[in-house]
Amino acid sequence: MSTVFTDIDFSLPGKQVGFAHLPLSAHNDAWGTIAMPLAVIANGEGPTLLITGAIHGDEYEGPIIINELIRNLQAEQVQGRLILLPCANTPALRASNRVSPLDNKNLARVFPGNPWGTPTEQIAAWIHDTLFPLCDYYLDLHSGGSSLFIEESAQVVVTDELDPAVRKHSEAMARAFGATLTVVTNNMGDPRTSCGAAAKLGLPAIAAEMGWNGSVSPQGVKRTRAAVARVLNHLGMMETDPPSATPSQQVFIPAGGNLLSPGDGWFEPVVSIGDTVLAGDLAGWLHRLSEPCAEPQAVYFQIAGQVYSQRTFGVTSQGNSLAVLVQNLPQEKQA
Ligand SMILES: [Zn+2]
Repeated sequence: MSTVFTDIDFSLPGKQVGFAHLPLSAHNDAWGTIAMPLAVIANGEGPTLLITGAIHGDEYEGPIIINELIRNLQAEQVQGRLILLPCANTPALRASNRVSPLDNKNLARVFPGNPWGTPTEQIAAWIHDTLFPLCDYYLDLHSGGSSLFIEESAQVVVTDELDPAVRKHSEAMARAFGATLTVVTNNMGDPRTSCGAAAKLGLPAIAAEMGWNGSVSPQGVKRTRAAVARVLNHLGMMETDPPSATPSQQVFIPAGGNLLSPGDGWFEPVVSIGDTVLAGDLAGWLHRLSEPCAEPQAVYFQIAGQVYSQRTFGVTSQGNSLAVLVQNLPQEKQA
């Protein structure tokens, strides 16, 4: 069940570009909708792949490349069916904000959604209940967003109940994607991301981080273009000749890997993305800038690892994530 409607017929061959409409009765538009761009490009036999961008509205490399596919791809070039949703949280994208301005909700924390909930919950329910059942594979393009510097990566969501065959397909897709890191994660125990929900349904899925800091990275756009083409090749959906992937380093986020701020202030990190640190190493200084005589507080890493993400904003509140560390996945757990 969903209130979302579209003129696009998912069963038809060929290329269709249009919108999915989520009814929204607002003060300035009693009978209006949220219009979410949507395209289907289908031809012959083959798998169905869903690609989403702008699940977070301040991450742009994904929407740029998905829109490029919508403009450039002809149905004859595709084997199977591509479902392309470049601006999954359209209100958030239009506000250039991580969360929707309509309900302050994060589309990557409300799956499986609620068809009668807030707009963001309704979008999640539509993706979960209408799009996922059509699909064989799912690729979700992210870019860290305004608050993160983050190493280029493809994340494979792994939970205890995940079917090993599904995990194998997801990891093969991550290898083809060819990001610098492949991060095996349970998303700190939170299953409410789109990829977490997809994995629960047995849909092989990866979520990629291809830029950072609410900006558009030229390198990120280029590498997303090549990575998406490699996934399409890998699934037998398209024959292109993208630059080949270099082997991806397989890592996981260990317990204690997320360094949280012990207090309020302005954080000065002393390490950079990709650095290797040891337990007890200095992570940075928490300053109280409006109190010049106050000594800054030293903040230390609790475990060893490689710096995967860092907070972009200087100003910091107690509990904010200052950095996330990853460690190499033990050989026996690697795909
Ligand atoms: Zn994101």
